[in-house]
Amino acid sequence: MSPAEQFIPVAKPWLDEREAEAAKRPILSGWVTQGPEVATFEQEFADYVGAQYACAVSNCTTALHLALLAVGVQPKDEVITVSHSYIATANSIRYCGAIPVFVDIQPETFNINPLLIEGAITAHTRAILCVHQMGMPCDMKAIIDIAQRHSIPVVEDAACAIGSEILWKEQWEKMGKPHGDIACFSFHPRKVITTGDGGMLTTSDSDWDKQFRLWRQHGMSIPDTVRHGAKEVVFESYPELGYNYRMTDIQAAVGREQLKRLSEIVQRRRFLAERYQQLLTKEINGIGLPDEPMWAKSNWQSYCVRLPDRYDQKLIMQFMLDQGIATRRGIMCAHKEPAYVNHEPWSCGSQSLVESEKAQTQCIILPLYPQMLDSEQERVVEVLFEACKRY
Ligand SMILES: *Cc1c(COP(=O)(O)O)cnc(C)c1O
Repeated sequence: MSPAEQFIPVAKPWLDEREAEAAKRPILSGWVTQGPEVATFEQEFADYVGAQYACAVSNCTTALHLALLAVGVQPKDEVITVSHSYIATANSIRYCGAIPVFVDIQPETFNINPLLIEGAITAHTRAILCVHQMGMPCDMKAIIDIAQRHSIPVVEDAACAIGSEILWKEQWEKMGKPHGDIACFSFHPRKVITTGDGGMLTTSDSDWDKQFRLWRQHGMSIPDTVRHGAKEVVFESYPELGYNYRMTDIQAAVGREQLKRLSEIVQRRRFLAERYQQLLTKEINGIGLPDEPMWAKSNWQSYCVRLPDRYDQKLIMQFMLDQGIATRRGIMCAHKEPAYVNHEPWSCGSQSLVESEKAQTQCIILPLYPQMLDSEQERVVEVLFEACKRY
């Protein structure tokens, strides 16, 4: 790396004075936890994705937990999902005392293979938890078709999929409408927009939305915003077990600014992804590029390439890091981690998880962020090309 060349991170949140200014608002108002900023952020988010209801929570993992509880997942129930995801997906099932049933993925999209779902359904299946991996929409038509035939609810792990779209009844719709029963989003800095940490649940069901609002604040019958504004003394009650899964007003104020630039962010990411495709096809023989189905528009939260078997994933990543370019290996497999291997609280719902495992060991996630310069992207491709010549 020459001194003139900047280190290229794998991702970089796009934050500036606008978010800093926005955070000032709740801080100077004196109301810093879940309050008016959260309520407005929820409304703006619902409008953006076209959802009837949006409920903000502390992160996507807590959103997934509440979504699974809402659709009725109980201890010993089975939930069909993928192992090939961030570990939070499978963990949220275990928080309910339920059993993750892993099925394999499609190698081209890194998403659940709908053809394998039906074979994993048993009398104990209580939900399907599909993941829009790296922002690429799942085949929701196929998934919902199976789910409806078996009367099983569908929860969408849309942690990475803010701003992605799916062709639905001949219209492009944002992920999170939701197309399943409930969708869950993340605002972690590694995702497309960020509030530091944060999450959102969307649904068309007003009862579920009410339930989320109760659970996220300790199951308290009267939200503290209401109690605070009351002219008469009111006593709250706790009709059921709840959690502290609140988002703060400081986070929501930042989120509202981020939402304003979401379309611009997605546009830039799509431009860079397309450019990667052109540059990489030209330069590297046999490299596997991610596939975007005709009916999907990804936000390209991550851009993941597959190296032919003859290459050494780790040596290539190290070479790139030495040249000042950060990468990540393919998405993890939960069933390979000690927290799963040694405990067996899960089962395999398909013949094997071979495509999931191959995606982890053969793939590399390349840098992609909206501020990335064209010249930086060219350098990534050049250095990857150089690494492939050596390893
Ligand atoms: C990041 C991520 C999560 C967890 O999101 P948090 O907001 O960090 O809890 C869950 N599922 C997937 C697919 C993710 O990528």
